[in-house]
Amino acid sequence: MEEKSIFEMILNKEIDSEIIYEDDEIFAIHDINPVAPIHVLIIPKKKIKTINDLTQDDAVLIGKLVLTAKNIAKSLRIDESGYRLLWNTNKDAMQTVFHIHLHLIGGTMLKEI
Ligand code: AMP
Repeated sequence: MEEKSIFEMILNKEIDSEIIYEDDEIFAIHDINPVAPIHVLIIPKKKIKTINDLTQDDAVLIGKLVLTAKNIAKSLRIDESGYRLLWNTNKDAMQTVFHIHLHLIGGTMLKEI
C-alpha cells in the first residue's frame, strides 16, 4: 500500500495537529512552519498528489477549497487587509508534501512575487 501523506496522518489523528476547519471533503490546519502571522493549509481529504493530477471530476472540490480559504480568511479577519492563496507544484516550486494543499498566507504586508 502507498505511504500515507503527513496530512492523512493528521486527519487520522496519528499525528497531533489542531484541525481548525473540517467538513466531509476538506480540512484545514495551521502550517507548522509559518511564513507569515497567518499561514493556514486547506487540504482535501481525498489524496491528490499534485495539481498535475487533477481531473475534471475534481473541479467542484477545487472550487470548494478556494471558497473555504475565503471563509477562513474572513473568520481570521484578513479578508480586507489581504492575503495570498497559492499551490506549490513539484520541484521548482519546492512542493514538499505530495497531497495537494492550498496555502492561505496573510496577516502582514507580503513581499512582492
Ligand atoms: P509545500 O511545500 O507546498 O508542499 O507545503 C507543505 C507545508 O506543510 C509546509 O509549509 C510545511 O511547513 C507544512 N507542514 C509539514 N508538516 C506539517 C505538520 N505536521 N503540520 C502542519 N503543517 C505541516
